[in-house]
Amino acid sequence: MTDWKLEEFDVPEVDDKDRFHDFALPHPLMRAIAELGYEYCTPIQSKALPFALSDYDVTGQAQTGTGKTAAFLISVFTRCWEAPLQDEPQLGCPRALVLAPTRELALQIESDAKELTKYMGERTVCVVGGMDFQKQQDKLEKRPVDLLVATPGRLIDFLDRNKVSLRQVEVLVIDEADRMLDMGFIPDVRRIVYQTPHKRKRQTLFFSATFNEEVMRLANSWTIDAEHIVIEPESVATDTVDQKFWMIGQDEKNQALLDLVSKPGTERAIVFTNRRDSTHRLVKYLQKKNVVCEALAGDIPQRKRLSTLNRFKDGELKYLVATDVAGRGIHVDGVTHVINYELPEDPEDYVHRIGRTGRAGATGTSISFVSEDDAFNLPAIEQYLGMKVECTVPDED
Ligand code: AMP
Repeated sequence: MTDWKLEEFDVPEVDDKDRFHDFALPHPLMRAIAELGYEYCTPIQSKALPFALSDYDVTGQAQTGTGKTAAFLISVFTRCWEAPLQDEPQLGCPRALVLAPTRELALQIESDAKELTKYMGERTVCVVGGMDFQKQQDKLEKRPVDLLVATPGRLIDFLDRNKVSLRQVEVLVIDEADRMLDMGFIPDVRRIVYQTPHKRKRQTLFFSATFNEEVMRLANSWTIDAEHIVIEPESVATDTVDQKFWMIGQDEKNQALLDLVSKPGTERAIVFTNRRDSTHRLVKYLQKKNVVCEALAGDIPQRKRLSTLNRFKDGELKYLVATDVAGRGIHVDGVTHVINYELPEDPEDYVHRIGRTGRAGATGTSISFVSEDDAFNLPAIEQYLGMKVECTVPDED
């Protein structure tokens, strides 16, 4: 446990990126970051960490997929580590609170928090609606909690029953504020915020994908002199990606994919499907044809996903077959091809997918298979891209 050395986490310094090493983070936290396979900070981490780690309030305009969760979690756990409590911690009195609009997001944050604190003593508990109340209460009553991740409604239940007290909260994180607003949660969130210490006596980190007037008003009323950070959504005009659309029958897709990955130029490729079952089916098919590839899908345990990703990063594995959700975590330079085995229904997913290639100034190619079924998803993509796309027959070469 203790014999890990920072030198094992060797990330070369480069001009335009920050390393986690540059922030003097706690040693056990660095070990977890190294294991997660993060090397350089994402833009939001580079911009937010200097302020968040210095106890400033931050308001951040950023979408999911930008690495904002790690940005606030790293800051929260560094504070807990550097300023351990002087008094005996009390049950149900978290030092940090993260509010998220949905159960899925809250559980994802909890899971990320647990990964990051793997070598620290800090404890995270998640309370969300639609799941067993008693079990969540048992967790709170068993041991003190450092970070509480919650959806607003369920947290109010706990507060009303005096099972949680927010008077010791040092850091308050509000995630996806715009969605909380859309979902009508703001009155609940306001009640919760009023139970935390005054904003002068806590740090507040406030995130939202969009900042309209109403969101801005909330941000202003809950933070003090916040540093406002804007991370542009992934650019729609992906200049560095040569986008191809191939007209192809559903039953020709497997062969076309096999031909593509067998070509010498396809050095590192991600194949996207719309569903987990097609991901697994495709991997089986390719493996049968002696193509070394692995699946990256939500039903694969996190540990396995990470080792797959690391092998892909190291170049040991040339092909990945992924779903959209799993694919968002892929930040690997040098991906030569993105292949859309199926076109996504959501045009934003299309842009996210093709953005996995053409990174860091390199050029990349995306090839989308367009069967009769896929063609239904094409108009939305064209509208989102702001251009008509041309479907061609597959290139011979
Ligand atoms: P989020 O925007 O918080 O949903 O994060 C999106 C994905 O990026 C998650 O799968 C994270 O594990 C991953 N991630 C976060 N920070 C980094 C980083 N510095 N390097 C590589 N991947 C990261």
